[in-house]
Amino acid sequence: MLKHALFLIAVLGLLNTGNVLARGANTPEYATIYITRSLNYDARKANINPKIVDTIVRIFSWEIDFNKDLQKGDRFIIVGNGGTHPSAIIYLGANKRVAVFAYTDKHGQNNYYDINGKSLYPSFLKAPLKYDRISSKFQRKRFHPILKTWKPHRAVDFAAKSGTPVYSVASGVIQHRKRMGALGNVVYIKHGSNYTTVYGHLSRFSHGLKPSSKVKKGQVIGYVGSTGRSTGPHLHYELRYNGIRQNPLTYRLPKQKNVGTTDLWNFKNKANKILNSLRSY
Ligand SMILES: [Zn+2]
Repeated sequence: MLKHALFLIAVLGLLNTGNVLARGANTPEYATIYITRSLNYDARKANINPKIVDTIVRIFSWEIDFNKDLQKGDRFIIVGNGGTHPSAIIYLGANKRVAVFAYTDKHGQNNYYDINGKSLYPSFLKAPLKYDRISSKFQRKRFHPILKTWKPHRAVDFAAKSGTPVYSVASGVIQHRKRMGALGNVVYIKHGSNYTTVYGHLSRFSHGLKPSSKVKKGQVIGYVGSTGRSTGPHLHYELRYNGIRQNPLTYRLPKQKNVGTTDLWNFKNKANKILNSLRSY
């Protein structure tokens, strides 16, 4: 695995010198999107099929925030540009490099995986803690026990003993970790560019967690409490997609996929061949 990783770094390092790609003309086999303004704008300029652009956004938004991270001079190399299913897409950014390779599984589904055969998106836990019961579901209107008014509750409340550990439901990056009005001690975690989870009323946070800290799926981020506007110990949990709160109990999150073990050797071999072929591009 390390050998593959080093190889990837070596090849991409070579590409990044710029000279190799200086010939730059878009052949049917390879195409490059040079970022000057935005992915959409520059992809159109490079005559890239809009379906491929959709694919790029769908896959790479787990690794790149297209609004914040993309910089002038970044490149996307599309290998096998003939149809709408390239065999590889490689992002060469100022701060990050990401390569994905196509693989069709036994159900005939085509997806993209990293050099180790893993899809870029993380898998999510069903619930962020071991809870006693659900004390309030996701609902448009509920009678608020403290405010004594009808308010929407676009979250799930999990009742649990004070001090019960709370886990990040997936790998991600801490966005906020602070005391915030009604939510009390709250943690916001960003997963990819589109998903955010929110954990409220915590008694305390895990040591060493700061905004921009990376967290893993199942990592303890804090402990159940009753801080903020709360009548008893519980976790207020939100799942947001593009800023819109979804029902965490019914929302269908993407499931992480891996290249099948019997195909893995072949897959890695093909991926390395593709990277190798870029040397002469
Ligand atoms: Zn709540």
